[in-house]
Amino acid sequence: MKKKYEIDGKRLQNTFIDLVKRPSPSWEERPIIEYLVPIFNQLGISWSLHPCGQSNNLLARIDGDPDRKTLLFSCHMDTVVPCENIRPVIRGGKITSDGKTVLGGDDKAAIAAFIEAIRVLHETGMPHGPLEFLFSCAEEIGLCGIKCFDLSILRADYAFVFDSGGDIGGIVLEAPSQLTMELFVKGRAAHAGMEPEKGVSAIRTLSEIITRIPHGRIDKYTTSNAGIISGGKATNIVAENAYCKLEVRSIKPERMRSTEARIRRTAMETVVRLGAKVSITRNLEYSGFSLKETSPIVKMAAEAVRSIGKTPRFESSGGGSDTNIINRAGIKAVNLSIGMRAVHTTGEYIYMRDIVAGARLVLALIDSA
Ligand SMILES: [Zn+2]
Repeated sequence: MKKKYEIDGKRLQNTFIDLVKRPSPSWEERPIIEYLVPIFNQLGISWSLHPCGQSNNLLARIDGDPDRKTLLFSCHMDTVVPCENIRPVIRGGKITSDGKTVLGGDDKAAIAAFIEAIRVLHETGMPHGPLEFLFSCAEEIGLCGIKCFDLSILRADYAFVFDSGGDIGGIVLEAPSQLTMELFVKGRAAHAGMEPEKGVSAIRTLSEIITRIPHGRIDKYTTSNAGIISGGKATNIVAENAYCKLEVRSIKPERMRSTEARIRRTAMETVVRLGAKVSITRNLEYSGFSLKETSPIVKMAAEAVRSIGKTPRFESSGGGSDTNIINRAGIKAVNLSIGMRAVHTTGEYIYMRDIVAGARLVLALIDSA
């Protein structure tokens, strides 16, 4: 059975274009907040700002039938760079930038879809339960906004984050935990030409550590990457210091921990053998989540996808999103596709039909709760 929700495609496109033209790199989301607040005021929707760093998270609430489930819809307001002077180009339903910047459909397609759904609710008087809409800041640089937002003030039973790519219908059931590690290797400096045998090269030592640790795709669930390296001062000095920052991700937390343990063992064994020292720091950036296809929120999402004539696709993500933090706080959350493609590149694009379907999916979820 296919349900129709009365989306105004032209209005939705205008909203999306307005949003992408407002630059909003991480921590500079004010232009988006200044765009959204007057819309909420005009529709009589209560909203609140929640300071975080130099920016704010924005929460809007719409009262509804208390006998129905409370739903949270969540997306982020910031985009990756380059995002100054975005000039959207519309050709036959496909929207791109002019090639010099990202488009910012990640995640402004979701913001536009939410606003359109809210307007349709307002216009049609469609019955609904209590609703919460959360617009986070600084997601792209480490989920900073959602991490400093007090999730305990939310009343939601279920959360739908719209921050995944590809065709509408994608439902992310699992996402990894992520750990970053920093290795500080200390060797011993010596003149590289006169008496190199008196030195212990931190660069050599670190190189050997990096070539011996698990790296790249480790197994189906787990990846690791040494992403930043530095060290040394001059070619005529045996390097005293070398530094590396790496990350480990896994859908299975125990595999993340066992990979971390292997990295530590390898580093310790190598420095002892070569006469250097190492100190290691670690930081859990976020915890992963894993939901079953049979869990109520997943069934609800899949049913809503079907009700708008699309096919649900269950997916596993290799990256973190606000969904990780919301799940960790005890609110069941899935990440849904909003149609963005080639994100985080200047070739980013999106089809208007997908943003329209995204708005219909929001309405279908509201309708089904
Ligand atoms: Zn995103």
